[in-house]
Amino acid sequence: MDQPHGLIDQLIKHRNRDRLVDTAARLIDAPSPTGQAGKACDRLAEILEADGFAVDRPDGGHPDAPAVVARFDSGSPGPTLQFNGHLDTVHLPFVPARVEDGLLKGSGASDMKGGVAAAVEALRMLRDSGALTAGAILLTAHDLHEAPWGDGRQLDALIRAGIVGDAVLLPEPLHGVLPTDGRGSATWKVRISRAGPPVHEVMRPTDEPSVIAVGADLVARLNRFDAQLAAEVNPVCGSASVFIGQIHSGEIYNQYPQECRLEGTRRWLPGTDGRAAEPEFRALLAELASTTGTQIECDWQFIRDAFHLDQDHPFVSIFQESCERVSNRRLPLGGKPFVDDGNSFWALAGVPAITHGPNAGGQHTISEWAEIADMERVALLYAVAAVGYCGSGTDRTEDEEWPQPAPYPI
Ligand SMILES: [Zn+2]
Repeated sequence: MDQPHGLIDQLIKHRNRDRLVDTAARLIDAPSPTGQAGKACDRLAEILEADGFAVDRPDGGHPDAPAVVARFDSGSPGPTLQFNGHLDTVHLPFVPARVEDGLLKGSGASDMKGGVAAAVEALRMLRDSGALTAGAILLTAHDLHEAPWGDGRQLDALIRAGIVGDAVLLPEPLHGVLPTDGRGSATWKVRISRAGPPVHEVMRPTDEPSVIAVGADLVARLNRFDAQLAAEVNPVCGSASVFIGQIHSGEIYNQYPQECRLEGTRRWLPGTDGRAAEPEFRALLAELASTTGTQIECDWQFIRDAFHLDQDHPFVSIFQESCERVSNRRLPLGGKPFVDDGNSFWALAGVPAITHGPNAGGQHTISEWAEIADMERVALLYAVAAVGYCGSGTDRTEDEEWPQPAPYPI
């Protein structure tokens, strides 16, 4: 293997800060609220094609914004490292790109067009330096990431179609820890109702239940359920939970209301069956409805399954060695506070997915920023990790070299 500094010098020679910033700025300047990221996907495809990469545009069930898929193959056998990012942004007023005090600002700068641009720069560095001597890079970018407007459907379709690497890097704005575990999540909305119309409280039918009392009963039951869930603790990401964020009922003080609405979340731990949470929740509601004589309806939205990183996979140690080579330190292990596409890669394909992106902030606000020097670091780190991972198994067959962990049941 190359001497550490030899490889890094070779790669840095082919890193271009202006090109990196220009790519990010052009992506930012193609507004792309979730569901409408077609222009940003087209823009990325144009940039990659102008750079000489072959680009595919599978729509993944979302023809308004076909995904962007580029491959760079070394021509020698070896594993494929995937760089994956989403090009959609949350629905907030558009802010154009600008550079200020070493920071790139604008819609999606932090979450996550700055990171996608760093991955594109890594791809260019790998090709132009000739440093990738085995394996391949797969770069993917897509829409439908941000909840509640998106639910990851497009990426799920790409993974199910086999457009997936043997390991994945995701340049989301998280860089201080190596996330090893994260909870899966779903949102729920419950509507408790009685048959009759709203009436003055003195006229209320004696045989009809109080939806407010039943709502209170549901709150108490869910609190007991949450306490049960809290008994099992994952040292990195805490406990499973059921959380109530809203409760609404009634119009005025002396009207007997017809319905009570509650909303909240359900989270579960890696290694547990997240799909089982919905029937379990619905059974709890059905029991309450039958004992109280109310109608209870529930909308359940599965957001993402839980996340786990198999630390025995060779990619994890190669990534940590790459961090050491680039920044002189390994990352401490930690939890992933949010759900991201790494959860889908683990749940659907069983591949190791590491979320690591530039120093950035303001995500989900109109004041997003990403530090340009750190975007350069991420580009170098991705390229170094690719050389280490893709080039490490050329003397063995693919089957022997990269055993895949079994996916969690879903
Ligand atoms: Zn993001």
